[in-house]
Amino acid sequence: MKNTNQLFQNGTGAIVVPGLFDGTLSIKELLSHGDTGIGSGDGLDGELIIVDGKPYKIAGDGNVTIVSDDFTVPFGNAHFADFKDFEVKDNLSIDELNDAIFNKEKLQNTQFAIKLHGTFQSVKVRSVYKQSKPYPNLIKTAESEHIFNGEKVTGTIIGYYNPSPFSQIAVYGFHMHFIADDLSIGGHLSDFRNFNGEFGIQKFNQFILQLPTDNKEFLEHDFSKDDIEGAINQTER
Ligand SMILES: [Zn+2]
Repeated sequence: MKNTNQLFQNGTGAIVVPGLFDGTLSIKELLSHGDTGIGSGDGLDGELIIVDGKPYKIAGDGNVTIVSDDFTVPFGNAHFADFKDFEVKDNLSIDELNDAIFNKEKLQNTQFAIKLHGTFQSVKVRSVYKQSKPYPNLIKTAESEHIFNGEKVTGTIIGYYNPSPFSQIAVYGFHMHFIADDLSIGGHLSDFRNFNGEFGIQKFNQFILQLPTDNKEFLEHDFSKDDIEGAINQTER
């Protein structure tokens, strides 16, 4: 029986801030925790989005591929989809997302997933090239990210909302990835305008966090010296 109340996560936001980019969980294992999700690859190799059990990687150059079972992730979320229809107004833009959700329901202290599928007048997404060791930190890596703009594109957003107490474990607020139906564009989502389509929400009351306890760099790193929230805010919005 699949538990649809549960969100799984491998790694933390904090782990990638100082450049601990080793992939520590295989896609095969991540998919055992859900058919829907987002993440990044070993060495911060692109942006991942899992839709209907298919794990897509958007590489630094924007190229989209389905990754193999042994592809590994330093950070990834997955859950089993059971989205409930959520009514939003037509022509929804990213600035209206908070109000559209939180004015209707008191969800700001909870974890939940959103899924949007439909047509967007515009989307702005980004991705990064795989880094090599010694890894730069997250802020340095983000300086070389590539931004892609799409217009009149049909596709899917998978996103997770984390409340403020999760601000070092995950991204506080919404963390959203996008993939076009025709795979022409995708990545970490930073903007969208005038969405029309289906909007679903899935609430969780359980969170499973897996830490890479066999990864030497993780075990030896001193996180107390990192500006974790500052770096996540600067790079993941
Ligand atoms: Zn992302």
